Amino acid sequence: MAGLKLITFSDVAGSRVGVLLDGGRVLDLAVAMPPARDMIALIEAGPAALAAVRALTANPPANAVLAADKVALQAPIPRPRRNVFCVGRNYMDHVAEGDRTRGITNSEVPKFPQFFTKAADTVIAPGALVPSHTGVTSWLDYEVELVAVIGTAGRDIPKEKALDHVFGWTIGNDVTGRELQRRHGQWFKGKSLDRSCPMGPVIVPREDLDTSDIAISLKLNGEQRQSSRTSKMIFDVKEIIHQLSAGFTLLPGDVIMTGTPEGVGYAMQPPQTMKTGDVMELTIEGIGVLTNAIGD
Ligand code: MN
Repeated sequence: MAGLKLITFSDVAGSRVGVLLDGGRVLDLAVAMPPARDMIALIEAGPAALAAVRALTANPPANAVLAADKVALQAPIPRPRRNVFCVGRNYMDHVAEGDRTRGITNSEVPKFPQFFTKAADTVIAPGALVPSHTGVTSWLDYEVELVAVIGTAGRDIPKEKALDHVFGWTIGNDVTGRELQRRHGQWFKGKSLDRSCPMGPVIVPREDLDTSDIAISLKLNGEQRQSSRTSKMIFDVKEIIHQLSAGFTLLPGDVIMTGTPEGVGYAMQPPQTMKTGDVMELTIEGIGVLTNAIGD
Protein backbone atom coordinates (compact mmCIF):
# COMPACT_ATOMS: atom_id res chain seq x y z
CA MET A 1 0.00 0.00 0.00
CA ALA A 2 1.34 3.41 -0.92
CA GLY A 3 1.47 5.84 1.97
CA LEU A 4 -0.73 8.88 2.38
CA LYS A 5 0.95 11.91 0.78
CA LEU A 6 0.20 15.05 2.77
CA ILE A 7 1.11 18.35 1.14
CA THR A 8 1.00 22.08 1.64
CA PHE A 9 0.09 23.83 -1.59
CA SER A 10 -0.96 27.25 -2.82
CA ASP A 11 -2.92 28.87 -5.62
CA VAL A 12 -4.67 32.23 -6.03
CA ALA A 13 -6.84 31.37 -3.00
CA GLY A 14 -3.76 31.08 -0.76
CA SER A 15 -1.79 28.41 1.04
CA ARG A 16 -3.44 25.35 2.60
CA VAL A 17 -3.02 21.64 3.26
CA GLY A 18 -4.09 18.75 1.09
CA VAL A 19 -3.41 15.24 -0.07
CA LEU A 20 -1.64 14.33 -3.29
CA LEU A 21 -4.01 11.84 -4.96
CA ASP A 22 -3.28 9.60 -7.92
CA GLY A 23 -4.18 10.77 -11.40
CA GLY A 24 -2.63 14.23 -11.00
CA ARG A 25 -5.21 15.33 -8.46
CA VAL A 26 -5.06 17.16 -5.13
CA LEU A 27 -7.57 16.86 -2.29
CA ASP A 28 -8.05 20.34 -0.81
CA LEU A 29 -8.44 19.79 2.94
CA ALA A 30 -9.43 23.44 3.50
CA VAL A 31 -12.65 22.59 1.63
CA ALA A 32 -13.09 18.99 2.78
CA MET A 33 -12.01 19.50 6.40
CA PRO A 34 -11.87 23.23 7.22
CA PRO A 35 -10.20 23.00 10.68
CA ALA A 36 -7.01 21.73 9.00
CA ARG A 37 -5.85 25.24 8.12
CA ASP A 38 -2.16 24.39 7.93
CA MET A 39 0.10 21.38 8.43
CA ILE A 40 1.01 22.15 12.03
CA ALA A 41 -2.70 22.52 12.91
CA LEU A 42 -3.37 19.16 11.23
CA ILE A 43 -0.52 17.55 13.16
CA GLU A 44 -1.75 19.02 16.44
CA ALA A 45 -5.30 17.80 15.75
CA GLY A 46 -3.99 14.28 16.37
CA PRO A 47 -4.89 10.76 15.24
CA ALA A 48 -8.62 11.44 14.80
CA ALA A 49 -7.87 14.18 12.26
CA LEU A 50 -5.47 11.93 10.38
CA ALA A 51 -8.11 9.19 10.32
CA ALA A 52 -10.58 11.72 8.88
CA VAL A 53 -8.04 12.65 6.17
CA ARG A 54 -7.65 8.97 5.29
CA ALA A 55 -11.42 8.56 4.98
CA LEU A 56 -11.66 11.62 2.72
CA THR A 57 -8.73 10.38 0.62
CA ALA A 58 -10.47 7.03 0.07
CA ASN A 59 -13.62 8.82 -1.04
CA PRO A 60 -12.74 12.40 -2.03
CA PRO A 61 -15.66 14.84 -2.31
CA ALA A 62 -15.77 16.19 -5.88
CA ASN A 63 -15.91 19.84 -4.76
CA ALA A 64 -12.60 19.42 -2.91
CA VAL A 65 -10.55 17.89 -5.76
CA LEU A 66 -8.19 20.11 -7.76
CA ALA A 67 -5.84 19.46 -10.68
CA ALA A 68 -2.30 19.12 -9.32
CA ASP A 69 -0.88 21.16 -12.21
CA LYS A 70 -3.05 24.12 -11.17
CA VAL A 71 -1.43 24.45 -7.73
CA ALA A 72 2.11 25.07 -6.47
CA LEU A 73 3.65 22.77 -3.90
CA GLN A 74 5.09 24.42 -0.82
CA ALA A 75 7.38 22.79 1.70
CA PRO A 76 5.06 20.54 3.78
CA ILE A 77 5.77 22.82 6.77
CA PRO A 78 6.58 26.05 4.92
CA ARG A 79 7.86 27.87 8.00
CA PRO A 80 8.76 25.72 11.00
CA ARG A 81 8.10 27.46 14.32
CA ARG A 82 11.68 26.84 15.42
CA ASN A 83 15.01 26.16 13.80
CA VAL A 84 15.40 23.01 11.75
CA PHE A 85 17.20 20.50 13.97
CA CYS A 86 20.01 18.59 12.25
CA VAL A 87 22.45 15.79 12.90
CA GLY A 88 25.92 15.94 11.33
CA ARG A 89 28.26 13.04 10.56
CA ASN A 90 25.61 10.33 10.95
CA TYR A 91 26.68 7.88 8.22
CA MET A 92 30.14 6.32 8.70
CA ASP A 93 31.17 6.54 5.03
CA HIS A 94 30.31 10.26 5.11
CA VAL A 95 32.33 10.71 8.32
CA ALA A 96 35.27 9.04 6.57
CA GLU A 97 35.03 11.10 3.37
CA GLY A 98 34.90 14.31 5.43
CA ASP A 99 37.89 13.23 7.49
CA ARG A 100 39.86 12.46 4.31
CA THR A 101 39.52 16.10 3.18
CA ARG A 102 41.44 16.97 6.38
CA GLY A 103 44.07 14.24 5.95
CA ILE A 104 42.53 11.91 8.53
CA THR A 105 42.49 8.30 7.35
CA ASN A 106 41.55 6.42 10.53
CA SER A 107 38.10 7.84 11.30
CA GLU A 108 36.52 7.20 14.67
CA VAL A 109 32.83 6.42 15.00
CA PRO A 110 31.16 9.41 16.70
CA LYS A 111 30.13 8.60 20.29
CA PHE A 112 27.24 11.10 20.39
CA PRO A 113 25.04 12.70 17.72
CA GLN A 114 26.42 16.04 16.54
CA PHE A 115 23.45 18.42 16.72
CA PHE A 116 23.24 21.76 14.94
CA THR A 117 20.43 23.85 13.42
CA LYS A 118 19.45 25.76 10.32
CA ALA A 119 17.30 28.89 10.73
CA ALA A 120 13.58 28.18 10.27
CA ASP A 121 13.29 30.56 7.32
CA THR A 122 15.93 28.69 5.30
CA VAL A 123 13.15 26.23 4.35
CA ILE A 124 11.99 26.49 0.72
CA ALA A 125 9.55 24.64 -1.52
CA PRO A 126 10.16 21.80 -3.96
CA GLY A 127 11.19 23.40 -7.24
CA ALA A 128 12.24 26.71 -5.64
CA LEU A 129 15.67 28.07 -6.50
CA VAL A 130 18.56 27.87 -4.06
CA PRO A 131 20.74 30.99 -4.44
CA SER A 132 24.31 30.35 -5.61
CA HIS A 133 25.55 32.69 -2.84
CA THR A 134 28.41 33.70 -5.13
CA GLY A 135 30.86 35.87 -3.23
CA VAL A 136 29.82 34.36 0.11
CA THR A 137 30.78 30.73 -0.51
CA SER A 138 32.89 29.06 -3.21
CA TRP A 139 31.90 25.60 -2.01
CA LEU A 140 28.13 25.24 -2.18
CA ASP A 141 27.22 21.59 -1.60
CA TYR A 142 24.14 19.32 -1.35
CA GLU A 143 23.11 16.72 1.27
CA VAL A 144 20.10 14.39 0.96
CA GLU A 145 18.52 13.61 4.35
CA LEU A 146 15.56 11.76 5.81
CA VAL A 147 13.50 14.22 7.87
CA ALA A 148 11.42 13.20 10.88
CA VAL A 149 8.46 15.49 11.61
CA ILE A 150 7.51 15.55 15.29
CA GLY A 151 3.84 14.87 16.06
CA THR A 152 3.52 15.06 19.82
CA ALA A 153 5.49 17.05 22.37
CA GLY A 154 7.92 15.27 24.62
CA ARG A 155 10.99 15.62 26.80
CA ASP A 156 13.33 12.88 28.01
CA ILE A 157 11.77 10.53 25.46
CA PRO A 158 12.95 6.93 25.90
CA LYS A 159 14.23 5.19 22.80
CA GLU A 160 11.43 2.64 22.77
CA LYS A 161 8.80 5.42 22.76
CA ALA A 162 10.58 7.69 20.27
CA LEU A 163 8.65 6.74 17.14
CA ASP A 164 5.37 7.42 18.98
CA HIS A 165 6.38 11.10 18.85
CA VAL A 166 6.93 11.09 15.07
CA PHE A 167 4.07 12.33 12.89
CA GLY A 168 5.70 11.49 9.57
CA TRP A 169 8.59 11.63 7.17
CA THR A 170 9.79 13.91 4.42
CA ILE A 171 12.98 14.71 2.46
CA GLY A 172 15.37 17.56 3.22
CA ASN A 173 18.37 18.99 1.37
CA ASP A 174 20.94 20.40 3.80
CA VAL A 175 22.59 22.79 1.35
CA THR A 176 25.91 23.89 2.84
CA GLY A 177 28.67 26.43 2.28
CA ARG A 178 31.57 24.10 3.06
CA GLU A 179 34.35 26.58 3.80
CA LEU A 180 31.97 28.58 6.01
CA GLN A 181 31.01 25.42 7.88
CA ARG A 182 34.67 24.73 8.56
CA ARG A 183 36.16 28.15 9.23
CA HIS A 184 33.60 29.37 11.77
CA GLY A 185 34.04 26.41 14.13
CA GLN A 186 30.33 26.15 14.87
CA TRP A 187 28.49 24.97 11.77
CA PHE A 188 25.59 27.44 11.88
CA LYS A 189 27.11 29.97 9.45
CA GLY A 190 27.79 27.43 6.71
CA LYS A 191 24.48 25.65 7.24
CA SER A 192 22.09 28.58 7.45
CA LEU A 193 22.47 30.54 4.23
CA ASP A 194 19.19 31.99 2.95
CA ARG A 195 16.97 29.44 1.15
CA SER A 196 19.42 26.59 1.88
CA CYS A 197 16.87 24.03 3.09
CA PRO A 198 14.61 22.61 0.36
CA MET A 199 12.03 20.30 1.93
CA GLY A 200 9.25 18.04 0.66
CA PRO A 201 7.51 17.20 -1.57
CA VAL A 202 5.16 15.37 0.83
CA ILE A 203 4.87 14.10 4.39
CA VAL A 204 4.15 10.38 4.60
CA PRO A 205 2.64 9.48 8.00
CA ARG A 206 4.90 7.45 10.27
CA GLU A 207 2.60 4.42 10.35
CA ASP A 208 2.62 4.25 6.53
CA LEU A 209 6.40 3.91 6.13
CA ASP A 210 9.06 1.95 8.01
CA THR A 211 12.13 4.13 7.49
CA SER A 212 14.60 1.85 9.27
CA ASP A 213 16.08 0.47 6.01
CA ILE A 214 15.07 2.40 2.89
CA ALA A 215 17.02 3.72 -0.09
CA ILE A 216 18.25 7.34 0.05
CA SER A 217 19.97 8.95 -2.93
CA LEU A 218 20.80 12.14 -4.81
CA LYS A 219 21.59 12.98 -8.41
CA LEU A 220 23.26 16.19 -9.56
CA ASN A 221 22.42 17.06 -13.17
CA GLY A 222 21.42 13.41 -13.64
CA GLU A 223 24.69 12.03 -12.26
CA GLN A 224 24.36 9.71 -9.25
CA ARG A 225 26.27 11.32 -6.39
CA GLN A 226 24.77 9.80 -3.23
CA SER A 227 23.23 6.35 -2.82
CA SER A 228 22.83 4.58 0.50
CA ARG A 229 20.30 3.14 2.92
CA THR A 230 18.91 4.62 6.12
CA SER A 231 19.98 1.46 7.97
CA LYS A 232 23.53 2.82 7.71
CA MET A 233 22.82 5.69 10.10
CA ILE A 234 25.19 5.63 13.08
CA PHE A 235 22.41 6.97 15.35
CA ASP A 236 18.97 5.84 14.17
CA VAL A 237 15.86 8.01 14.41
CA LYS A 238 14.94 6.55 17.81
CA GLU A 239 18.38 7.34 19.24
CA ILE A 240 18.37 10.85 17.73
CA ILE A 241 14.99 11.68 19.31
CA HIS A 242 16.03 10.11 22.60
CA GLN A 243 19.21 12.17 22.81
CA LEU A 244 17.84 15.45 21.38
CA SER A 245 14.88 15.37 23.79
CA ALA A 246 17.07 14.86 26.88
CA GLY A 247 16.20 17.93 28.95
CA PHE A 248 14.82 19.61 25.82
CA THR A 249 11.14 19.59 24.86
CA LEU A 250 10.35 18.65 21.28
CA LEU A 251 7.16 20.21 19.89
CA PRO A 252 4.61 19.23 17.23
CA GLY A 253 5.83 20.38 13.83
CA ASP A 254 9.51 20.33 14.75
CA VAL A 255 11.58 18.94 11.89
CA ILE A 256 14.73 16.88 12.42
CA MET A 257 17.19 16.23 9.59
CA THR A 258 18.90 12.91 10.29
CA GLY A 259 22.19 13.27 8.41
CA THR A 260 23.50 12.58 4.94
CA PRO A 261 25.31 9.56 3.46
CA GLU A 262 28.59 9.67 1.55
CA GLY A 263 28.99 11.30 -1.86
CA VAL A 264 29.01 15.04 -1.10
CA GLY A 265 30.75 17.18 -3.71
CA TYR A 266 33.36 18.62 -1.37
CA ALA A 267 34.82 15.15 -0.66
CA MET A 268 35.15 14.18 -4.34
CA GLN A 269 38.55 14.02 -6.06
CA PRO A 270 38.94 16.76 -7.11
CA PRO A 271 36.38 18.56 -4.87
CA GLN A 272 33.23 19.68 -6.66
CA THR A 273 30.97 22.65 -5.98
CA MET A 274 27.63 23.67 -7.47
CA LYS A 275 26.93 26.50 -9.90
CA THR A 276 23.93 28.36 -11.26
CA GLY A 277 21.71 26.00 -13.23
CA ASP A 278 22.71 22.80 -11.44
CA VAL A 279 19.76 20.54 -10.63
CA MET A 280 19.62 18.46 -7.43
CA GLU A 281 17.26 15.48 -7.45
CA LEU A 282 16.80 13.79 -4.07
CA THR A 283 14.96 10.48 -3.75
CA ILE A 284 13.89 8.56 -0.66
CA GLU A 285 12.07 5.28 -1.13
CA GLY A 286 8.40 5.53 -0.18
CA ILE A 287 8.41 9.33 0.10
CA GLY A 288 9.20 10.67 -3.36
CA VAL A 289 11.55 12.99 -5.20
CA LEU A 290 12.60 16.50 -4.14
CA THR A 291 14.04 18.56 -6.98
CA ASN A 292 15.60 22.03 -6.70
CA ALA A 293 18.01 23.96 -8.89
CA ILE A 294 20.69 26.52 -8.12
CA GLY A 295 19.67 30.05 -9.12
CA ASP A 296 21.75 33.20 -9.50
MN1 MN B 1 23.50 17.53 6.90
